[in-house]
Amino acid sequence: VASRDFTQQNTVIDVNGVQIGGHKVVVMAGPCSVESREMILETAHAVKEAGASILRGGAYKPRSSPYSFQGLGEEGLRYLAEAREQTGLPIITEVMTPEDIELVADYADILQVGARNTQNYALLKALGQQNKPVFLKRGMSSTIQELLMSAEYILSGGNMKVMVGERGIRTYETATRFTFDVNAIPVLKELTHLPVVADPAHGTGKWNLVTPIAKAAVAAGADAIMVEVHPDPANAWSDGPQSLTPERFAKMMQELRPVAEAVGRGL
Ligand code: PEP
Ligand code: MN
Repeated sequence: VASRDFTQQNTVIDVNGVQIGGHKVVVMAGPCSVESREMILETAHAVKEAGASILRGGAYKPRSSPYSFQGLGEEGLRYLAEAREQTGLPIITEVMTPEDIELVADYADILQVGARNTQNYALLKALGQQNKPVFLKRGMSSTIQELLMSAEYILSGGNMKVMVGERGIRTYETATRFTFDVNAIPVLKELTHLPVVADPAHGTGKWNLVTPIAKAAVAAGADAIMVEVHPDPANAWSDGPQSLTPERFAKMMQELRPVAEAVGRGL
């Protein structure tokens, strides 16, 4: 169902009027974790001002260590909903278990499946049974074919609103947190009609690499970019080193525009 053999038409997902997979490259931005009401509201206004069209923020966090901050849970979802009310930005947030889907879907406009859950088939099947759009990230050790088969688990349940994305894979390289596989962007565009999202923040782990890799991804045909923005990255509760300040995010948006135009798209 994900294949180009299924339909020649690109899937365009409408999220409260924001078209993902259409003419414009969509930018999703916000903190890794929702840390407090004030920080998410401040960040939401800043990213909106700079031209983002979707607000991201994690309330249920898949941390590598159980001793790390696990997210604010429903309290975080409430703050995200308030940020949407104030800015008009649709919100995307991660869901980690089938049991949480109903609650998270009550608040979120897009449900994110993180790299650690790409092959959590119980979660994927359950997401196929509900109708909110899903952003399915590539697992850090998943092949592109495995990512697409994971998408099939959602699509075959009847939910056609699926976008897939590259967020960096494990290689032997240690200079960056993961290796952003830019190949995956045009390969996915060739294989699937689903919108393709690039996440250069997790893909590199370093804020100063986010803009160059975002530009590469847009040049390679990405339909959307997801980046992390934090008002004070040095004191972020998660993923500070890869987070842009609002000022650096605004600069990224300026640099991205001519790249999007060069490939015949808007931003
Ligand atoms: C995130 O988006 O903050 C996240 C945890 O991403 P990933 O699943 O790609 O690690
Ligand atoms: Mn993160």
